[in-house]
Amino acid sequence: MRAADENIGKVLKATRKTYDVALESKIIRCTLRGKLAAEGEAFAAVKVGDDVKISLTSETEGLIEEILPRKSQLSRTIESRAYQEHIIAVNINQLLIILSTKRPKFKSGLLDRYLVIAEKNRLRPVICINKTDLSAPENFADYQDYYTKLDYPVFFTSALTGYGIADLASVFQNSVTALVGQSGVGKSSLIKAIQPNLDIKVAAVSDRTQKGQHTTTAAQLFPLAQNSYVIDTPGIRELGFWGIYKKDLAQYFVDVHRYAPQCQFADCTHIHEPGCAVLQAVETGEMFAERYWNYVNIYDSLKSAYYE
Ligand code: GDP
Ligand code: ZN
Repeated sequence: MRAADENIGKVLKATRKTYDVALESKIIRCTLRGKLAAEGEAFAAVKVGDDVKISLTSETEGLIEEILPRKSQLSRTIESRAYQEHIIAVNINQLLIILSTKRPKFKSGLLDRYLVIAEKNRLRPVICINKTDLSAPENFADYQDYYTKLDYPVFFTSALTGYGIADLASVFQNSVTALVGQSGVGKSSLIKAIQPNLDIKVAAVSDRTQKGQHTTTAAQLFPLAQNSYVIDTPGIRELGFWGIYKKDLAQYFVDVHRYAPQCQFADCTHIHEPGCAVLQAVETGEMFAERYWNYVNIYDSLKSAYYE
């Protein structure tokens, strides 16, 4: 048996007492070493995405000895529980935002919402526009140009024809990627196109939720090729705008944030003020007008403070 410090794995799934840990190409069913379990709430301690040191007790079973330092965490506040923070998953570094050209209709408003969530949670956003067999990428050139200029990579794919799949696959390498996108845009189809043997069933999860049937809202990581993982959880999709108030929004809109120092008023909301550099950029066409209106819509939907 190897020493524990040689076995560093990743937690894929957490249930009440056991944890599925990916170790090389195997999945080890783990429990917590007594010492770790005693260090507070055992169930709360180890999270999906954690890198852990394990010792093997058999070919397929082991003990979690130690949690390695976390690089990031994705959490949301639960309003009904006095704003208690709930960690959904840890060590996620990328948000793959999937839209479709048609069926469902392309919605830049949704894209900008997901970009705000990515910026807020410090996830690297990657944009994927799927179903290019229904409408050609040229029809989305304005979006591609503008978002690329903001340093957000834009990929075009068709899970049906295989167009762009190889390029999209490269995005996952050496990352833990969370998938977001409306139901029906092709999230499961894209993952299946990239890795045919993986049955992520993301669609099934959201459909069951809509019908109100029992479903687990727990996050789960799926291993793709070496050292890449994908996560799809209703929790991430419903992250919404927790902890973002009106005054915060501009800092998560990278273009608005860029123009803001030139506004006449330091506390400019970029909605109606005279001497607003953002409004000016919209007028000259430097800022994409559609994106500005998405900013205004999101701004209107946000609260001014948590107690409002
Ligand atoms: P999800 O809900 O985002 O996981 O979406 P699914 O992967 O379940 O796909 C929803 C529907 O869109 C299914 O009927 C798929 O066959 C279809 N679909 C997925 N990708 C494409 C695509 O690139 N082109 C076309 N025409 N249909 C697609
Ligand atoms: Zn302004």
